[in-house]
Amino acid sequence: MPAGESAGPALSAEDRAGRSRRATADIERLRAGDVAMAALTWVDNAGITRVKAVPLSRLERAAGWGVGMSPVFDVYLVNDDMTASKYIGGPGGDLRLIPDLGRLTVLAGQPGWAWAPVDRYTQDGEVYPACQRSFARRITGLAAARGLELRMAIEIEWAVGADGDDGTFVPACQGPAYGMTRLIELSDYARDVVTALERQGVAVEQFHPEYAAGQLELSVAPSDPVSAADDSVLVRQTIRAVSARHGLAATFAPSVVAGAVGNGGHVHLSLWRDGQNLLAGGPGRYGISRDGEAFAGGILAALPELTGVGSPSVASYLRLVPSHWAGVFACWGWENREAALRLVTGSDGEQAVRANLEVKCFDLSANPYLVTGALIAAGLAGLDEGAGLPGEILTDPAGLPPGELDRRGIRRLPRSLPEAVAALEGSAVLRAAMGNPLFEAFLAVRRAEVDLFAGVSPDGITARTRWRW
Ligand code: GLU
Ligand code: MG
Repeated sequence: MPAGESAGPALSAEDRAGRSRRATADIERLRAGDVAMAALTWVDNAGITRVKAVPLSRLERAAGWGVGMSPVFDVYLVNDDMTASKYIGGPGGDLRLIPDLGRLTVLAGQPGWAWAPVDRYTQDGEVYPACQRSFARRITGLAAARGLELRMAIEIEWAVGADGDDGTFVPACQGPAYGMTRLIELSDYARDVVTALERQGVAVEQFHPEYAAGQLELSVAPSDPVSAADDSVLVRQTIRAVSARHGLAATFAPSVVAGAVGNGGHVHLSLWRDGQNLLAGGPGRYGISRDGEAFAGGILAALPELTGVGSPSVASYLRLVPSHWAGVFACWGWENREAALRLVTGSDGEQAVRANLEVKCFDLSANPYLVTGALIAAGLAGLDEGAGLPGEILTDPAGLPPGELDRRGIRRLPRSLPEAVAALEGSAVLRAAMGNPLFEAFLAVRRAEVDLFAGVSPDGITARTRWRW
């Protein structure tokens, strides 16, 4: 396999020994807290969080030398079938999953367990070129080299319920959208989810019952891109664990019921330099700075390609329909929930802190590390090109008179996974950012999932994927 372009520093034997040594204090703290096991997770190209677990007595060794896992998981599909790609696939080889103990967290929803995300290394101690988390870190580093800092957060929408006898989704609550009734029905559960997250050090901003049947939503405070992706993993696994303890099942699938509003995974991001938010206090529209606009313009221009990364499953395209607040048109607008790129400025007096962009067209079948890294790569390309933002759209683009979208140059984002794959294949920016091994494996999974669901009805797709994410 070709080496990833400066994937990250290799680990020497000394580095490994140092990591193990430094883990001792963490392990003592965990032991005192009655933790017996640690779950070490990473997210594959199908958006599934995969895991290896170790007893606490083995965590010290794992901190330096990692635990083994096959590279073939990079070409796993949503149903656990395997495909192959140009550089990755087949039964050979082994990787080391090395936990980032900076994120070691005692799990409130799984007594006796701790969790840490991993970075994947080769047995030689090189960063594995297809490691998604290392990709996010590397691209964040490219922004930092230009003096830019990103703050990001991924919103989590999910539905609680079960399959009925006929395979249709039966929600676990009956109350209306945003309704207090629904919150009362799930009162103990909702409190336990939020309390568990707070005990795990995740800052929950708010919780509410969402639009669709059984649907809920939770948002967390922004942080650096890798942490935001880690939070997305931790929040979802915590919701799942607390759900199980309440006898509930949670689904983060983009489409739970075909034709209904789905679960989004909206990404909020802001760009900072020297402590200044570049989306506020500047000379442009709504106070956007010149560099803020170029970064936003880069993301907007790349949205057709980015959709394949952020909405990567066949089921994603059951969600991405107009007038469902999923943002299916490549346009931007202040507080417009039908624009793929929504500008949020916040209220008077707090814009400097709050102003951010929300990418609405993504969902939670995406790998959050690929999402954060790809968005930054597109934004940086916008900076290189001196990109700008076109005129904004303040209404639902689907409601504009015929011909108006064309006149304003507004494109519908890909309507299907094959369309998204075609757009992504042509993206020189994302290919270069991800590097060929990761990019090709990611595309191979998409193509194989297209084949897997060929000829399957929308109801069949939701029935087969509802409980996978
Ligand atoms: N559930 C909607 C989606 O599919 C989003 C609703 C909202 O704007 O929060 O993305
Ligand atoms: Mg929402």
